[in-house]
Amino acid sequence: MNKNWTVGVDFGATNIKVGAVSDDFKVLKEIVLRAKEHPTPQKFIQGLKKTLLELSSGLGLSLARLRGLGAGIPGLTDSARGVTHRLVNMPGGWRNVPLRSLMERGLGIKCEIDNDVNVVALGEWKLGAGRGSADSFYVTLGTGVGGAIVANGALIRGACGVAGEIGHLIIRPDGPRCGCGSRGCLEAFIGTHALNRKAAHLLKKSTVLSKLVRDGKKISPWLLGVAADKNDKVCKQIWKEFGEDLGLALSGMVNVLNPELIVIGGGLANSWKHFSPSLLRSIREIPFEASSRACKVVRAKLGDKAGILGGALLVREKGGNLR
Ligand SMILES: [Zn+2]
Repeated sequence: MNKNWTVGVDFGATNIKVGAVSDDFKVLKEIVLRAKEHPTPQKFIQGLKKTLLELSSGLGLSLARLRGLGAGIPGLTDSARGVTHRLVNMPGGWRNVPLRSLMERGLGIKCEIDNDVNVVALGEWKLGAGRGSADSFYVTLGTGVGGAIVANGALIRGACGVAGEIGHLIIRPDGPRCGCGSRGCLEAFIGTHALNRKAAHLLKKSTVLSKLVRDGKKISPWLLGVAADKNDKVCKQIWKEFGEDLGLALSGMVNVLNPELIVIGGGLANSWKHFSPSLLRSIREIPFEASSRACKVVRAKLGDKAGILGGALLVREKGGNLR
C-alpha cells in the first residue's frame, strides 16, 4: 500500500512491544518480543529487524514509506545524543551504548530513542489525557516513580536528558533511604516497594489485610486497594498518606512549572479513587492559589498503547512536525 507509516517501540522489563502506527495515529498491528530473549543491543536490533519485515508484509506497507522508528527505553537515556546511560534491568546495564546509531545502521531507517517516561508523556499529551493542552506534567506511579515535562508543546529534556525525575525529589530529608542513594525521595515513600514495606509493618493492625494474607494473598498495592475497598482503616490511611506525599511533591512542581495539566499514569494510578481525595486537597492547598487554580489533575487515558503511540510521536517530534 502506498501509505506512510511509523513504528513505535515500547521496551518494557518483560515485553518489547513493537507497533506499526498510521499517520493519523492508529496502531495498525502490534508484535510482542520477549525482553529476556533480546538481552543485548545486537539481539534487540536483530529482533526489531525481523519484526519490521513481519509488520511490513503483514500489513502490505512498503518499507520505503516507513518514516522511522521511535523507541521508549527503560532507563537513563540521552535522547539528543542517542545514547543509553544505564538500563538497570538489562544484563550489563547497556552502559553508554550509542543505541540510536547502532539501530540506524542495523535497520537502515531513521531511529530515535528517549527515556520511556518521556515517550509515554508525549503520547498522553498529544493523543490522550493532555489532548489540546500546551503544558503538562506527566507522572508515572509504580515500582519506580518518574515524571516528564511538556512545555509549549515540546518535551523538556534537560542538559543530559534526565529532566522531570520527580521520584527523586526529596520530600523529607530524614526519610527512608532511596534506591538512588539519597534519603527521603518521593519514591522511597510511594514506590511499590515502599508501600509493600509499610503495609507489612502495619499488618497486625489491619484485620482485613491480615486475613487476606492468611488466606494466601501476597501484599501488593492491588491488595491494599482491595482492603481499602472493604473499608479497612489501616489501608485507607496508607492511601491517604500516599496522596499527601504525592501531593506535596506535585505542589512543588505546580509552583515551579505552573502547568495547566498534571497527568497521573502507571500501575498504581489504578488506585486513583483511594488516593485522589488527599492528593487533590494537597494540590488545592499547598501551591500558590493562582497556579493551583490553573492546574487540572487527571488520570492517563491511553493505557498500554501509550508507549507505542509515544514512540511514533517521538519520530515526528524530532522531525519538527508535531505541532
Ligand atoms: Zn531517590
